[in-house]
Amino acid sequence: MHISERVGESTCNPVDQADSCRIDIHRWPSTATIATMARKKVPLDVEKEVLVRSRRRCAICFGLNRDTTIRQGQIAHLDGRNSNNDSENLVFLCFNHHDLLDSRTSQSKGFSLAEVREYRQELHVAISDAWRKPLTKGEATHTPAVWPEGQYVRETEGSEAQIHVRLVAPMRLHISGFAAWGTWRECPNIGELDFEAMLSGDQVTYTYDMPWAEPLFQYKATIRFRSDGLDLDEADDTHGMFGHNVSFKGIYRKASEGDT
Ligand SMILES: [Zn+2]
Repeated sequence: MHISERVGESTCNPVDQADSCRIDIHRWPSTATIATMARKKVPLDVEKEVLVRSRRRCAICFGLNRDTTIRQGQIAHLDGRNSNNDSENLVFLCFNHHDLLDSRTSQSKGFSLAEVREYRQELHVAISDAWRKPLTKGEATHTPAVWPEGQYVRETEGSEAQIHVRLVAPMRLHISGFAAWGTWRECPNIGELDFEAMLSGDQVTYTYDMPWAEPLFQYKATIRFRSDGLDLDEADDTHGMFGHNVSFKGIYRKASEGDT
């Protein structure tokens, strides 16, 4: 009795999920049409992120054909669970490729998750590259480049943090950082960041599954570059990812342009 009163995907058994919770989707431009489905709608800010990062180019069209035509299409859930509206799980696809992606659960040739993720990443890199190039229209030249390499210092009072950003391959950044809490004490608590990630648009995301955290915790840092600095966002409680009270969250200003 109690179980039947529960709502949401927790009542789905695996078979139901494969069938009724399968990728759906969001038709463009009529956002109202999806209201007919009893599904969890992609939040508007996430939808915006997916559409802007793809600039409405289909990730599979691009991955297979380098086709950058603007498409009418849909936002698909990569893992097939429409309740998972994390932007990492979403991809903008043309109608044709969305249908083909749907067929992946059959034994026929479908697209694999890893494959589509790779195409999406390649598309985001290409889009972000293209949008960095100067655009000349009439007499006006617009140069959007925000170049992320350099040294950054956190401006937040009371704790110290620095982040160093270096380009290691086209659009691939090496990011290292150091943060301290309690520098007035003999032994301050410290934390370090050291990872490589692709620049996507103006941002970089880093995730790390912490094996020692109970329950399982994934540390996630999102860095958004500005022309004169960066913003780093992470969970308020990092579950011991760094030393006690140590965090990298905050607003940083750029201290230098290059490797200094
Ligand atoms: Zn396509």
